[in-house]
Amino acid sequence: MNQAEENLMAWLRNAHAMEEQAVTMLIGLANRTGDYPEVKARIEQHLAETRKQAEALEGCILRRGGDTSTLKDLTGKVIAFGQSISDMFVDDEIVKGAMASYTFEHMEIAAYRVLIAATEIVGDTQTKTVCERILKEELSMASDLEAHLPELTREYLRRSQSN
Ligand code: MG
Ligand code: FE
Repeated sequence: MNQAEENLMAWLRNAHAMEEQAVTMLIGLANRTGDYPEVKARIEQHLAETRKQAEALEGCILRRGGDTSTLKDLTGKVIAFGQSISDMFVDDEIVKGAMASYTFEHMEIAAYRVLIAATEIVGDTQTKTVCERILKEELSMASDLEAHLPELTREYLRRSQSN
């Protein structure tokens, strides 16, 4: 493997760990959004997408000759940034959870933009196609969260006032 190929493999593994972490966080968030059906439905849709993303990345890693036996070790310790966000995910307050989710989507967007550029250098069009498809899902989730954040905040404040 040349340097670019090695980097691509490392970044694919990180992205896989990131998606595994996303699954855990989205499950937690979905469980706490029962009072906000529209947001909950969107989170559950993205949870299903995220599971497929993790599988697709695993496919890319295998196809590139990587082995997936060590993938699980990486999970949960992707990067310190991701960790601080996942602390926000476990907060009971739904507004913080939504902020964390919005932030996490942007971390994913950055990761896939990097991956796409790397696949171009390496000349792996199959992995590029996978990453472009995933990037679209992350952009769509980020934009939907952005659209929901103000309303979610107003609704949260309205409910906490009437208590
Ligand atoms: Mg994702
Ligand atoms: Fe995502």
